[in-house]
Amino acid sequence: MSEGEFALLRRYFQPRRFQHGKQGVELVQGIGDDAAILGCPPGRQWVLSVDTLCSGVHFPAEAPAADIAHRALAVNLSDLAAMGAEAAGFTLALSLPEAQPAWLEEFSSALAQSARRHHLDLVGGDLGQGPLSLTLQVHGLVEPGRALLRSGAQPGDLIYVSGTLGDAAGALALNYLGQSNGEADHDYLRSRFYRPVPRLELGRALGGLASAAIDISDGLLADLGQILHCSEAGAELEPEAIPLSSSLRRCLGDSRARQTAMEGGDDYELCFTIHPQREHQLPVLANTPLQRIGRIIDTPGLHALEENRRRPLRPRGWQHFANQPKAP
Ligand code: ADP
Ligand code: MG
Repeated sequence: MSEGEFALLRRYFQPRRFQHGKQGVELVQGIGDDAAILGCPPGRQWVLSVDTLCSGVHFPAEAPAADIAHRALAVNLSDLAAMGAEAAGFTLALSLPEAQPAWLEEFSSALAQSARRHHLDLVGGDLGQGPLSLTLQVHGLVEPGRALLRSGAQPGDLIYVSGTLGDAAGALALNYLGQSNGEADHDYLRSRFYRPVPRLELGRALGGLASAAIDISDGLLADLGQILHCSEAGAELEPEAIPLSSSLRRCLGDSRARQTAMEGGDDYELCFTIHPQREHQLPVLANTPLQRIGRIIDTPGLHALEENRRRPLRPRGWQHFANQPKAP
């Protein structure tokens, strides 16, 4: 007979593996009671975000357990990064079709490794039987008034993005989400899908500096569109300035790579706006290139600026219920 829920919890989600003692946060009660109790450090506010990843929708059903764990935590932490929050802890609700020890061990150790890297405590969760899905709620901390919102962009502000865009969507379009094949561009794009790096350090540095921010999960045009909607403004983008990786260019060609970077999501880079007089204060962080791609304007809507002429852009990106499921 396979192990029951309680034995599985003791084996794969024991506090020893997952509680590191986040500095400043008092873990009054972690895993093991009906609910967790956390103290909030003085002078901070909790920032909470929850995301669900379903097999066959957010990742292919046959994806390796370690990749699923890394991606699940990263996409949740990315929301904290986009708020300018420091990550502190998380809860995990896991639904599994069956309890396979090899899968659970791979999943739990990859999750623990990723959590340790970000100094995160897993403080509770749920475990049940059903189609494979994971719901993580992440807990972050921010100083009052320092959070990055979508609503603060002003005409004249510059629009920036971190990293390169379109890589994860390129991996999906090229069917690169299966096993690694040892080919450098294939593996790079594949890793950008499964192992996005949440831009937490950048988000912290932008607190009190950027006027608005969002993480790019549904596509640059769609997510920048959210900033424009919340800020009641428009934007002028320079498509040529959008940063592309050389892997994506080689695999898709320049024109399709640029289109993918504008419309494809899943990279979890940050898009933010900043007043031009504060541009020189932008942080210089190792491995986090920043690129200016346009500016906020009075005229509503998204526009491309090409040879000094404005052309309207249609904000297209991923939306549940409006598109077909994206991962087969
Ligand atoms: P309840 O039935 O009261 O909801 P559970 O039996 O589901 O409690 O869970 C027992 C304890 O184990 C709780 O503290 C819960 O937060 C924790 N827990 C359950 N599932 C997980 C999980 N996947 N990861 C971490 N902690 C979990
Ligand atoms: Mg429960």
